Amino acid sequence: MGEKGAIRHKLTETIAEYMLKVKEGGGSINAVLRTGYVCDPRYRNHEVPPGHPERPERIDALLALMERYSREEIVKIEPRAAAIEEISANHDRRYIDQVCATAGKPLFVFDPDTHAYSESYETALLSAGGLLSLIEHIMAGKVDNGFAMVRPPGHHAEADQAMGFCFFNNVAIGARYLRSKYELDRILIVDWDVHHGNGTQRSFYADNSVLYVSLHQYPHYPGTGAVNDIGVADGMGYTVNIPFPGGCGDGEYAAAFRRIVEPISRQFAPQFVLISAGFDAHRRDPLSQMRLTREGFEAMTRSLLAVARDHSQGRLAAVLEGGYDLDALEESVAGVLDELGGKDLGVELPHGGGAETVLDAVTRVHRRFWRL
Ligand SMILES: [Zn+2]
Repeated sequence: MGEKGAIRHKLTETIAEYMLKVKEGGGSINAVLRTGYVCDPRYRNHEVPPGHPERPERIDALLALMERYSREEIVKIEPRAAAIEEISANHDRRYIDQVCATAGKPLFVFDPDTHAYSESYETALLSAGGLLSLIEHIMAGKVDNGFAMVRPPGHHAEADQAMGFCFFNNVAIGARYLRSKYELDRILIVDWDVHHGNGTQRSFYADNSVLYVSLHQYPHYPGTGAVNDIGVADGMGYTVNIPFPGGCGDGEYAAAFRRIVEPISRQFAPQFVLISAGFDAHRRDPLSQMRLTREGFEAMTRSLLAVARDHSQGRLAAVLEGGYDLDALEESVAGVLDELGGKDLGVELPHGGGAETVLDAVTRVHRRFWRL
């Protein structure tokens, strides 16, 4: 055999080995993606007043889910506490000190929804740090994507203010971390929690390195997130609000993804995809009038995973925001985890529904920034 023949033979052998690996599930083509998750009993330690919806039992439900959830290539990741420097990339030092001062104290009321008990500060550091641990695992290639199931949630927290159950803005701190530590220039945050993420919007309002896209019920708490909130200065066009009337479900969200979220995300070509994953737009959730089902959350995950695979080497991290019906939360998180495996088994949702007027308005406003 001449030299060329030997090389050809070697190549054939490699392809044969590779196909065998793929068949056994060890290859990369159509193989299951490695999904990391963070879910820790310490997230129970942030207490709330009796009857408060954002309660420790949410974590119990997710811990129970992860006990029985099985899928190939699912990896448990230990959370760490975020460092003060990491928090201060998104929050004022004076405000951080204010939250820190609640540690060990019986109760401090920030607003009628947001109460700090003795372990709330430490739990909030572990909440932000849970997402940072997940990001580190993804950036090191130890997992492909993942889900940080943390509490307290974050997207209402502003630079200098706790509100809406939130102390530190986990997803914003995650985006800042990707900017500073990994020097990424384009980060996409999609926020499908039923409430508008006022804190996240404010953090990046003048910033074109972070594209913030929110789908939310409107008008609803906290009152921000109108179609015309599009960002300022360099950030113009990099805040995209899709304010749905109550009653929207899988069809309307699928139409929004097809007409707006996916095209804009692809044109932005993110280097990392973050999801502010709240499940309070589920039809059984007590805090909204929306009608999403597990299939709707699966379809949104699938769409963003496709964006991540085409633009950011598959790098995608979801972080838990709201979601207050425990059964709805469990089934929807399971659906998201299934989709993150990349098997693409979900049913394609019918597009449509009754929110075309809203989508037309968003298209009109953003047509000068994006091809829509
Ligand atoms: Zn919410």
